[in-house]
Amino acid sequence: MSAQHTPGPWFQGPQSANGWHTVRVEDVGCTNGRIVAETVEPEDARAIAALPELIQTMEELLRYEGHHVYCGHGDDMDKPCVCGLIAKQDRARAALCKAKGEAA
Ligand SMILES: [Zn+2]
Repeated sequence: MSAQHTPGPWFQGPQSANGWHTVRVEDVGCTNGRIVAETVEPEDARAIAALPELIQTMEELLRYEGHHVYCGHGDDMDKPCVCGLIAKQDRARAALCKAKGEAA
């Protein structure tokens, strides 16, 4: 188990003095928030700022158990999943592990 990332929400903040685009988190005593990350491209700062929410919502989606009603898979894990949801969930779990620094 790795250390957790800085709790969100994160936001794309003003550029730092050296011109880097920043990702920040609210912090008492820091007018513009505390810097979590700096990027060359503003689009990368925007994408990184969404990470805490993306992790949270992916975890919520992966906990959802009422799937496969349309492909007939249901709760029977011996039947094949023809809707592709299990493969998508496996990829989502792998991405989550990568983002959280955990073994897949
Ligand atoms: Zn399915």
